[in-house]
Amino acid sequence: LPYPIGASTATLSDMNQGQHNDGGERGFDPTLYPSDFFASRSRFLTTAQARGAEIFSYPLATNTPDLSEPLSIDIAFIGRRDAPHKILHIAGTHGVEGFIGSAIQHAIISTLRPPDDDCGIAFVHCLNPWGMAMLRRTNENNVDLNRNCLFDKSERSGAPLGYEHVRPLIAAEISSSFPAFTFRALRTVVQHGFSTMRQAITGGQYIDPQGVYFGGFDLQPEIVALQSWIQQSLSAQDLLTVIDLHSGLGKFCTDSLLIDDCSGSQAHLSILQRFPDEPIYTPDASESVTYTTRGSLGLLFHHTLPGACIDYVVHEFGTLHPFRVLHALVEENLHFFTGSRSRNNARLFEAFCPDSARWREYCVRRGVEIFRQARQTLPVARKHRVS
Ligand SMILES: [Zn+2]
Repeated sequence: LPYPIGASTATLSDMNQGQHNDGGERGFDPTLYPSDFFASRSRFLTTAQARGAEIFSYPLATNTPDLSEPLSIDIAFIGRRDAPHKILHIAGTHGVEGFIGSAIQHAIISTLRPPDDDCGIAFVHCLNPWGMAMLRRTNENNVDLNRNCLFDKSERSGAPLGYEHVRPLIAAEISSSFPAFTFRALRTVVQHGFSTMRQAITGGQYIDPQGVYFGGFDLQPEIVALQSWIQQSLSAQDLLTVIDLHSGLGKFCTDSLLIDDCSGSQAHLSILQRFPDEPIYTPDASESVTYTTRGSLGLLFHHTLPGACIDYVVHEFGTLHPFRVLHALVEENLHFFTGSRSRNNARLFEAFCPDSARWREYCVRRGVEIFRQARQTLPVARKHRVS
């Protein structure tokens, strides 16, 4: 199996470390991870404004009555608007993954060196506020925003090859224990192969609006908001670097850079030069942890800024075993639509933001490192694109 099945997963001691922070000599601060979306948003606005950021806020309408405050996508821009280099740092595309994103962004922004005249830096605090507020991965319409960026309506149909084989596993109508789920998942792997199964599940589907990895029948308001900011604030002449933070894929306490473009493409070569020591996965790499998806966020930038030089990477942090993550997703989704959600949202949270001081410290340190490296290698990006 190409994926780290049977590889390291969170142990009980990892789980328990969260109760007594052991951040070590670096003095890791566990409060970097916010208590909820609203606390995170308020901290983001305060910290960014203290750094002289210009704030763009896009209010989001919601039909959920039990939210204490209005929802908003907030973007902080620091530096010159006419700078040729732009870095866009995005958190919370998958709602519940916004907690790790918030921690990383806060660590970056609170120690940010002001950008030079040739660079502007933007932070999207949380692209999916409803998902973060409600501890879900999707938005209020059950749409996975990272499968939603399709701009031709005719593309929004169908499901990946083999979807009918995995559908009984992921669209279950009754709850199952983890051992029972694992048994059925392994049986599916044996019958259809792991990579087929992974592709069928995660590639993005446009037929089950109450299923997981649903890409949506329409462009979602969160994507429309980001698109209008891009149109307002960026240009096709910019050298744009996008870092989109995610968690839930890969081994515990590891991270990787995933790109949309194939091996040997200009974007791939540029990323290789800028992050030579990092594991970089393209959709076509045979040993890849990644897979081909439809409607990923990277497409939004190419669609909105045609011809622009864009280095787009997903910075992905591994959490639990893939079956644990999938089980948490499937169970949470089932309980969301049948009305008994609290316990399952705790499990989903654990799958995307484990309560482990070691994991949390690791993610912040690596998130800051990748951001710094993106900044330091801007001249490399320019040189590469000019040559
Ligand atoms: Zn994600």
